[in-house]
Amino acid sequence: MKRILVSGGAGQIGSELIPALRERYGADNVVCADIKIPKGPLANEGPFVQLNCLDETGVRETIKKFNIGTIYHLPALLSATAEKSPQKAWDINMNGLIIALEAARESKCSIFVPSSIAAFGPTTPRVKTPQDTIQRPQTIYGITKVAGELLCDYYFMKWGVDARGVRYPGIISYKTLPGGGTTDYAVDIFYGAIKEKRYECFLREDTRLDMMYMPDAVKAAISLMEADPSKLIHRNAFNITAMSFTPKELANEIRKHIPDFVITYSVDPLRQSIADTWPESLDDTCAREEWGWCPDYDISQMTQDMIKNLREKLL
Ligand code: NAD
Repeated sequence: MKRILVSGGAGQIGSELIPALRERYGADNVVCADIKIPKGPLANEGPFVQLNCLDETGVRETIKKFNIGTIYHLPALLSATAEKSPQKAWDINMNGLIIALEAARESKCSIFVPSSIAAFGPTTPRVKTPQDTIQRPQTIYGITKVAGELLCDYYFMKWGVDARGVRYPGIISYKTLPGGGTTDYAVDIFYGAIKEKRYECFLREDTRLDMMYMPDAVKAAISLMEADPSKLIHRNAFNITAMSFTPKELANEIRKHIPDFVITYSVDPLRQSIADTWPESLDDTCAREEWGWCPDYDISQMTQDMIKNLREKLL
């Protein structure tokens, strides 16, 4: 079989997507690539290549060397980090994507490119945000995500490149820490709750955002790439969601397991201003209808599983 390349594979999503893909398709068939060298199984249990996604020749050579048929393109600067270095974010998020799309076109690869709820902005309807709606984001991260969505559509329309993608909400996981996004509080809070029974939140208590547990994020990527293309009316940027909550509601859910958990708030103006422009909840009907999207975890199942696994990891 043709192999799979996961570029930016050592980050929060890649470090769980790669083991799932290796389990499904065989460890030798899934190549992890990243600018940094990961510790542990990502580099040991299957092929690993240290690769900058901006290195056009390196990307092409890796695709040829490993006979790649599918690319999961994950390198990006995330929302809060990108806002501190907008030009660098544009470079990695856009030029890295164009290089990957060109390589996919040349080598006839399918390519998965994740977008984000950050692709929306303050003029987007915030509740049950439709699949096709106003997109005027005010962050550099969001701007690169909208441009990326359009570029993926363009490569399909113009050259038939099998580009597919979802708009991920904030992703919650316990294996790898998140990479500098606005929804990171929803992971940090569990570390605080388990280690110290307290957490100081950088978003206001009533900030409602869409979230998803990592097993669902991994399932979404794999199911979309395995979906019957003739059923896809949209191909890229599918709205997907699993749960929508505020920091206060998540703290209440955690208190069901850790009754003396205390949450306090010290609002970070940058991340709060970003969160205030994002949707509260997405309408993911198109993903459900076109490729059978259905999440397995709600807030209570996610909280229970996070606490169980983080207790084993940290205590
Ligand atoms: P992350 O920051 O955890 O991981 C990104 C990885 O890319 C890192 O391992 C980093 O070393 C690597 N990278 C950075 N620059 C690189 C370069 N020049 N060349 C090669 N690799 C490079 O991010 P993530 O959370 O795993 O996100 C993956 C994708 O999913 C991104 O496109 C992100 O925008 C999107 N997304 C993530 C979330 C989330 O909550 N995690 C939500 C929505 C969308």
